[in-house]
Amino acid sequence: MASIFGCDTLTAMIAQIKTAALGALRGAGRHGIDFLMPPTCPVTGERIDDPVGLSAAGWGAIHFIDEPYCDQCGAPFAVDYGQGILCPSCIASPPIFDRARAAIVYDDGSRSLVTGFKHNDRTERAKTFGAWLARAGRGLVVGSSPILTPIPLHWRKRMYRRYNQSALLGARAAARLGARYESDLLVRIRATRQQHSLVSSKARWENVAGAFAVRGSRIGEVADAHIVLIDDVLTTGATLSAASNALKRAGAARVDALVLARVVKGGVGAI
Ligand SMILES: [Zn+2]
Repeated sequence: MASIFGCDTLTAMIAQIKTAALGALRGAGRHGIDFLMPPTCPVTGERIDDPVGLSAAGWGAIHFIDEPYCDQCGAPFAVDYGQGILCPSCIASPPIFDRARAAIVYDDGSRSLVTGFKHNDRTERAKTFGAWLARAGRGLVVGSSPILTPIPLHWRKRMYRRYNQSALLGARAAARLGARYESDLLVRIRATRQQHSLVSSKARWENVAGAFAVRGSRIGEVADAHIVLIDDVLTTGATLSAASNALKRAGAARVDALVLARVVKGGVGAI
């Protein structure tokens, strides 16, 4: 039978209704769920009392990123080479964004914590993660008045997931930093494949090239501004570069990136 809706739209609507119902049940039955399914540490699986906390071992498995790191992309260094030093990758191929900072390393210790927040409705973690972002990004806002804005989802993915995880992070981080936050400076002008589903770096760059634009009504706010892009995970930097490119073409004076977690080739402090 023919439908009045397009197939994609109908599928997305059904998914939205289903996830909204599950979300309502979760919210209404939080105490009951805690009784039937006691909270566990998202890192280690141990039983814990605080439904939004971590066990001691879970905290130990999270690797926070502190100096020394590459002055541009924020990749941690194993050795302190001094101030203003760039990593080999930034020297060989400078990123489009001016600087990037990340709160934690994306590795076996943090993966479930981050993916649960991104894909499985664990949005209560935004408060903690926002504090971590503010700690990592404080140096980006010193002496400046930046606008924090999230990497946007395509409208279809936003409807399916019901929230933009980067927007939740951005709002919390901005409140902590006392910075201006705007949720919709950028728009994703075409749907892209999930970056983590693409193996090669080349495929990731091609997937997001030209995927972002500054919203027409917001171009005046972007011109000559200092923008801090907010995202959840930095892997190759392709998504942040594509978004930075759109902002710089619209006249942004400076574009930095602040992310929750970043992949570090070879592990913590590998360079
Ligand atoms: Zn670098």
